[in-house]
Amino acid sequence: MKLELSRVVQGGCRLGVLKGLGRSGQHSLEVPGCLLYTRCGTVPHLTQDTLHTLTNLPSVTQLTLSTIAEHQEVLEDFKDGFRKFAGLHDTVLYCSLHDPVTPCPAGHITNKTVSVWGSGGRIELTVAKFMALQRTVRPDWYQSMADGETWQSNTSRKRVRKSVDRTLAHLDECLLVHHKTQELQGVAVFGVVEGGDILEERVRSAKETAKRPVAGFCLDGLQTGSMDQALRIQLIAAVTKELPEGKPRLLQGVGRPDEVLACVEAGVDLFESFFPFQVTERGCALCFNFDITPDPERAVLEADEERDTAGETHENGELNLDDQMTSFEINLKDKRYQDDFRPLVEGCGCYCCRNHQRAYLHHLLVTNELLAGVLLMLHNTAHYLAFFGALREALQEIYHIKEARRSQIEAAL
Ligand SMILES: [Zn+2]
Repeated sequence: MKLELSRVVQGGCRLGVLKGLGRSGQHSLEVPGCLLYTRCGTVPHLTQDTLHTLTNLPSVTQLTLSTIAEHQEVLEDFKDGFRKFAGLHDTVLYCSLHDPVTPCPAGHITNKTVSVWGSGGRIELTVAKFMALQRTVRPDWYQSMADGETWQSNTSRKRVRKSVDRTLAHLDECLLVHHKTQELQGVAVFGVVEGGDILEERVRSAKETAKRPVAGFCLDGLQTGSMDQALRIQLIAAVTKELPEGKPRLLQGVGRPDEVLACVEAGVDLFESFFPFQVTERGCALCFNFDITPDPERAVLEADEERDTAGETHENGELNLDDQMTSFEINLKDKRYQDDFRPLVEGCGCYCCRNHQRAYLHHLLVTNELLAGVLLMLHNTAHYLAFFGALREALQEIYHIKEARRSQIEAAL
């Protein structure tokens, strides 16, 4: 895995291509970009065939260990790894620990173990079990085991320090086993940067993780709902300053378009793409205008709907990621759409927008038809991926404008 940066613009925005992905190294992924969110290897609501009606899909599929840990024995019997087991097309498989949509109950982490929750309940993972799972899954890339339980508002400084220490210890142990495991040769490991909301701990975690032989970095414990945006950006900017330029930074648990833009400016390269799924689950469609103005001074994202219910709840230290409509979507269950014969988004090329109207989606939702989820997921995924494409184009353009201005100034001197 190799990150080739072509531009750094607009403060810390990094534009480039992550190359040499996959075991044979033939895949690449543009940054800033996102991974393909799945549950148990499948994009929710979509079969591989419906998914592949979309163009420009990310070349990396995210699989969360929490959704497959309980199937370890079946996978061991199967012997050929998860990609073949799930019938995935040619894709790079990235294995992360937790599902970003499902918050974990707190209080189940020890010095030697972390827990994940599958459909059958809690599964406790030691480094040995974690690595045995990786050997069975055979991803191309995985995040190291980490203690990320620092998102509650009342987390003490001592607990945060412990999470950094444990995560570094887990990383060292994982790397030790990794290098001795034949099946994992050529597989990339991402170190996890912890540190809660404490700046010194974030910097320490980043510096120490960067000393280890990792291919890239996951920034954990900064998810939506865990802290306000200003603090998140301050912490990310401090962390990315300590990380080597040539290795990718993946931010976990942040998906809202406005938050994505701010985090890209702070130096983040990659995101998880769970946001379209959350929007789909509440019967909504992404409809924001992503004309990201190529203004060299400021990139602006317009949320074009009148509604503004966006905001993070932070009550009793509980994460609340679901059921909150944002200003980037419309609620198709609303009566006003029952005779709206326009597509979800005018000009969108997805299957849903080419073939159906808002009124039909409204009908499917109020009658609880499963097709509603399929069509919404197709559109929301297409719209979200197009947003990332527009972001990269805007960064490219900003760079060209700046270069043109620079040469004008030089010519004038
Ligand atoms: Zn569409």
